[in-house]
Amino acid sequence: APAPAYRGRFAPSPTGDLHPGSLMAALGSWLLARGAGGEWLVRIEDLDPPREVPGAADRQLAALRAFGLHPDGPVVRQSERGDLYRRALDRLLADGHAFECHCSRADLAATGGIHRRCVATTRRPRPAVRLRVAPDARVAFEDLVRGPQVQDVGATVGDFVLLRADGYWAYQLAVVVDDAAQGITDVVRGADLLDSTGRQILLQRALGLPVTRHAHLPLVTGADGRKLSKSESARPVDPTDPLPALRRAWAALGQDPAALAGADRVTDLLPAARTAFRPQLIGRGDTAS
Ligand code: GLU
Repeated sequence: APAPAYRGRFAPSPTGDLHPGSLMAALGSWLLARGAGGEWLVRIEDLDPPREVPGAADRQLAALRAFGLHPDGPVVRQSERGDLYRRALDRLLADGHAFECHCSRADLAATGGIHRRCVATTRRPRPAVRLRVAPDARVAFEDLVRGPQVQDVGATVGDFVLLRADGYWAYQLAVVVDDAAQGITDVVRGADLLDSTGRQILLQRALGLPVTRHAHLPLVTGADGRKLSKSESARPVDPTDPLPALRRAWAALGQDPAALAGADRVTDLLPAARTAFRPQLIGRGDTAS
């Protein structure tokens, strides 16, 4: 079958229950996919067992069902996809795009956060692996919400980690490999990940993969425009009472609340949202929850 013209995804990390920011990302990516006549997938990004909350992935999936957001294919879990990441990493190493890094914490502290090359004088039994980034590497892309973007990955990030020294896969590698393997054309997510996009595009190029389109949704802030505190933004949405949370996510996407006023069930609200959705209303800045 030919690749679809539009395939989006929602890719939560199971570090807690679904919160307002993640519901907005889920609803926003779903609406953009539906508006484009495309498909929408869900992927659980369970790469970091120490940060994982037991049961959170299943509760996130149950919450998505309660919110009426049903993926168009099986849910995949990154914890089961290590072979794919290994193959991609081996190719990058073989092509000279990636290198083993034996730097210690002290070596890294001395770089001021911008890694240039491995300076370690002793080898570690299990080195990290990094992507080699030219000091002048700069990535330009069009964000479908925020407009043209330029990121100086060489100057502000440097060589970045693909495989961590503790043996876990880095988010940057896994997300790029999975988006390609799943045929994702459009990455729609919260603005907290805008900074990662330049790195991910460099990695897509190094792997010879198609470069995805990107849209970064506003950050959910408090009603007074302050960034929500960790505890406020981590307060989960209530899947047993889905309408208020969906209405807030809709408003946070810059959409007209009146369009959903008549809906009193999820099965009325989502079709109304699909019809009334206007991507150009999504704000570029942060939005009140
Ligand atoms: N798993 C990431 C997160 O929950 C999102 C990854 C992405 O959308 O690219 O923050």
